[in-house]
Amino acid sequence: MRDVVLLGSTGSIGTQTLEVIDGHRDRFRVVGLSSGGGNLDALIAQAHDFTPDVVAVPTPAAAATLAGRLPAQTAVWSGPDASSRLAAQPCDVVLNAITGAAGLEPTLAALRAGNALALANKESLVIGGELVTAAAAPGQLIAVDSEHSAFAQALRAGRADEVGRLVLTASGGPFRGRRRDELVDVTPEQALAHPTWTMGRIITINSATLVNKGLELLEAHLLYGVDLDAIQVVVHPTSAVHSMVEFCDGSTIAQCSPPDMKLPIALALNWPERLPGAVRGFDWSRPIDWHFEPLDADAFPAVELARRCGHAGGTAPAVYNAANEVCVDAFCDGRLGFTGIVDTVAAVVEEHLASSPPAALSVETVLAADAWGRARAGELVGELV
Ligand code: NDP
Repeated sequence: MRDVVLLGSTGSIGTQTLEVIDGHRDRFRVVGLSSGGGNLDALIAQAHDFTPDVVAVPTPAAAATLAGRLPAQTAVWSGPDASSRLAAQPCDVVLNAITGAAGLEPTLAALRAGNALALANKESLVIGGELVTAAAAPGQLIAVDSEHSAFAQALRAGRADEVGRLVLTASGGPFRGRRRDELVDVTPEQALAHPTWTMGRIITINSATLVNKGLELLEAHLLYGVDLDAIQVVVHPTSAVHSMVEFCDGSTIAQCSPPDMKLPIALALNWPERLPGAVRGFDWSRPIDWHFEPLDADAFPAVELARRCGHAGGTAPAVYNAANEVCVDAFCDGRLGFTGIVDTVAAVVEEHLASSPPAALSVETVLAADAWGRARAGELVGELV
């Protein structure tokens, strides 16, 4: 029996994680749940279904709403550090499915407590950089992102010194094939209609701009220690091949499965063992056409911008992520055009690189860069209105 702490339980990854656990109650026990408090009815229903020891929310107001509505054995913790305290509880695995920079401190808390960390919250790794990798013992950090789970699976086929490059696949999002000038007038509704994955709002917009692939490039570099320039993004619209590792002899090992996050979630919860029946495999009795094409870096400059941030190091990735989150909100509210998202992020990043000498990474410097990136992006968006 594995004891699981699930952070961000009411979101897309959180609910899918509980679906996986629901199918394997003989193997997993939910000991803690946390959310942002935005959907307390869902959190209460989850608590009654899985009877965790603790439910954690960030505000006393949310805790007050929960009072008296949870199972008798479930305690309520509240405060901005409630998810971090929960992440540090003794357990077999913490799955961090919080969205955005709010996941950083829970990620560090889980690692410092010695818990295995199944990480969906890529932002915490990307913005925390070496701060996070230095806190992780070998094997302690387990990827949930389908692409990085694919790398982990394919990397089992050879030694680290035999790896030539990582090939990171991208669906290309809903605007694949469009030129930059054809992206200017696209709407939030169009951007939220992802062709292959159903996900939370920020990651769905990030998939349309390819900012998500930029974050994943940095994530892959940090997780597997592969040079940034040895990671290539290739567009693969059907999202069947989740990523590939090319070894030094030219052999490429690909991991493929139908696009369903339950597979990487199940593998991460049960790592390094596979969970039988996690998803149904492909139907090979029907024709399958897997297509690959190069990324159009002119229409989708977010990946190269992320690579530049990775090379710059320090707090540049935190600024990239923070400015982007502000721009995604502005786009969804109709205050910023689609191409304005990455253009604004690039302007904020360049300003940061020109004005801030690389600072030693700490939670404080990362969160200060995050706050500066948000404020500066907000100012630039405001000037455009
Ligand atoms: P959602 O927006 O659907 O869910 C986010 C979750 O985080 C919600 O439960 C939300 O609670 C919770 N949350 C927000 N702020 C806090 C906080 N301060 N403390 C505790 N919990 C908080 O996001 P997704 O599930 O789509 O994504 C989660 C992470 O997984 C992201 O980092 C994303 O990049 C990554 N990911 C997602 C994939 C997907 O398919 N969705 C695939 C691969 C990675 P509430 O809303 O109740 O307030």
